[in-house]
This record gives sequence, structure tokens and C-alpha cells, in this order.
Amino acid sequence: MPKIKAYAAQSPTTPLAPFEIQRRAPGPEDVRIQILFCGVCHSDLHTARGEWRGTLYPCVPGHEIVGRVVAVGERVQNFKIGDLAGVGCMVDSCGHCAPCQEGEEQYCDNGFTGTYNGPVFGGENTYGGYSQAIVVKESFVLRIKHAEQDLASVAPLLCAGITLYSPLRHWGAGPGKRIGIVGLGGLGHMGVKLAHAMGAHVTLFTTSSGKIADGKRLGADEVCISTDPDQMAAQRGKLDLIVNTVAASHDLDAYLTLLKRDGTMTLVGVPPEPHPAPNVFNLIFRRRRIAGSLIGGIRETQEMLDFCAAHGITSDIEKISMDYIDTAYDRMLKSDVKYRFVIDMASLA
Ligand code: NAP
Ligand code: ZN
Repeated sequence: MPKIKAYAAQSPTTPLAPFEIQRRAPGPEDVRIQILFCGVCHSDLHTARGEWRGTLYPCVPGHEIVGRVVAVGERVQNFKIGDLAGVGCMVDSCGHCAPCQEGEEQYCDNGFTGTYNGPVFGGENTYGGYSQAIVVKESFVLRIKHAEQDLASVAPLLCAGITLYSPLRHWGAGPGKRIGIVGLGGLGHMGVKLAHAMGAHVTLFTTSSGKIADGKRLGADEVCISTDPDQMAAQRGKLDLIVNTVAASHDLDAYLTLLKRDGTMTLVGVPPEPHPAPNVFNLIFRRRRIAGSLIGGIRETQEMLDFCAAHGITSDIEKISMDYIDTAYDRMLKSDVKYRFVIDMASLA
């Protein structure tokens, strides 16, 4: 196969720059997708800049991929040339362990293969969506039912969307439930939209006073400025579930005290440094839980995409060109994104 254009980080400290990669020729079960748009996840930044250590270089990030099918292997059943398709955070898993059999490939006992940075337990590097095309086996390719003109705004559903949809479903977000979403970034703004569409009462917790109006427009019933002690005190003991998307180490107790008895705070943000240990009193006195949640399985990702298409949900995006990526990362660190950057891959050509 001829080489294609991509963007890669060569080390934790060098800006991303043009790089050429080769994709495998599609095998019998493979789909080749011409990438049209790719969302920019905070995980891309953590990985490209080596914040989680473990980064394989050269690093081509990008796991919110949408595009058009341009080739299919002979055994591919559900895609044909010309279809719109998506790829999220995984491109493979073992397929035979219990989590894989249960459709929870993200918890594969043998480690799924990330769309970028390779298998989670070590192995050959993989290159993600900051590139012109990708070849993925059909069982890890998602169908897109949104209108084609919404395609760029659909890209972030492939990671930000499923990362919030899965815990909201797992912990029963719906009518009569009070849900807190912490952080109005890429993940958080999808959480507000999804929890609202599921019929729950949504309270957004943000450090940015400039995001109050947007929070409400996106579907929050209440917006609480998390740096204001009086506003936080007013929320004490009120919430059934908190989904915490913050990408930096912070005080978890401030949020644990907002849970009802038996309430859960699930962490989805993955800060480079650990959170300070929470106060045990805040857990034992109302039997509260701290949990974690990782993206979602392929079946659930398809369910989420179909749910979003049926409810008219997409991401609020700012379209950027590929060469803007480091500026986009720097703005993301300042919480200056409304609410997901999406790379127009035409800018790579
Ligand atoms: P993002 O767009 O940068 O949003 C994070 C938001 O957190 C910010 O917009 C900001 O919201 C808030 N925030 C940032 N720093 C903060 C601080 N020091 N204290 C309090 N709030 C702060 O990032 P993202 O793409 O949504 O990703 C969020 C995290 O989730 C990252 O760590 C990413 O790696 C992780 N992630 C996890 C999974 C998973 O499967 N578990 C999947 C994807 C991403 P406000 O301005 O509203 O305060
Ligand atoms: Zn992501």
C-alpha cells in the first residue's frame, strides 16, 4: 500500500508534525476508511505529550474517527464502498475472554488494541485518526445514521459520547434520577446532553463561570460553580450519580459529599497524577461509592450512536486544520474549547 499523510509526535516535547505512515492492505474482514474528520480528545494530549508515561513514539493520536468506506474485504457483510463509518478507541481485542464475549471489549482480559498506541498490555504501535485513512476489522467499525452534513459533529461521539453514555446507562440515569456532571469539556458536554436526553435531572459542576449559559443550553437543569463553597454546600446529599470528567488531580471529597446514600461517583477523567486520597468518613457514612468506567463496548457504542441519531444529538465543535493541533492542545489545557476540536482531514492533503 502507498504511504499516506499523518501527523505525529516524535517525543513528549516536540510539537506534532507531518509524518508518513503505511496502512495494511485490507484483509478479508477489513474495512478501509478515508478519514474525513477526527475529534481531539484530552487523551490524545496526555498520550502525545507522554503524560501517562507508556507512550510509543512516533505517536499518531486520534480515536474519534469518521469517514467514508473506500474498500472492503471479501467477507465484510455490513459495509460497502461509499458508506459512512466510524472508529472509536479500539481496533481489536482477544474476542474469547468473558468481557469480550459479553460485548465489553474495553475490559478485555488480554488487553484490547487501542486505535493508537498499540495493545494496552504491550505490542506493536498503532497509528490513529490524525491521518488520511485507516484499515480496521469490520467488527470494530461503527455504522453512522446521522445526516452526512452532521458528520464532523458526530466524530466526538466515538469517544466522548460513549465514555459518558456507558456509565449513565450502567448506573441507571433516567427519569427521577439526579445526575451530576463534573467539568464542561469534550466529555462533560456530551454527559449533559445525554443525561438530559435520558430524562434525568442534570446538575453541571464547572470551574468556569463563563460556561453557565452554555451548560443550561446544553441541557443542565442547574449549574453549580464548583469553586464557590456556598453553591457546593447547597448541593450536599442531593445526587444519585456523579460522572467526573476532570483531567487534573483534585479533591474528590468536594464531590463525594454531594451524593445521596448509596450514591456513586464514577471517575472517567484520567489525570497524570493521582487524586489525593478521599476521606473515608465521606464514603462509609452513606455507603457511597467511588467507581471508574472506561469508554464502552462496540455494541454499546453502536447503541449510543443510534440513540444520538434518534434524539438529534451531536457534539458542539470547533473545526480546525491539522496544523492547528498544538494550539488546540494548549487551549484545551486552559479549558478554552467549546466543546470539542474536530480536525478537518482535508487540511492534511
Ligand atoms: P477536556 O475537554 O479538556 O475537559 C476537561 C474539563 O475538566 C475542562 O473543560 C474543565 O471544565 C475541567 N477541568 C480541567 N482542569 C480542571 C481542574 N484542574 N479542576 C477542575 N476542573 C478542571 O477533556 P476531555 O477530552 O473531556 O477528557 C477529560 C478526561 O477524560 C481526560 O483525562 C481524558 O484522558 C479522560 N478520558 C477518559 C476516558 C475513559 O474511558 N474513562 C475516555 C476519554 C477521555 P470546566 O471549565 O467546566 O471546569
Ligand atoms: Zn478519547
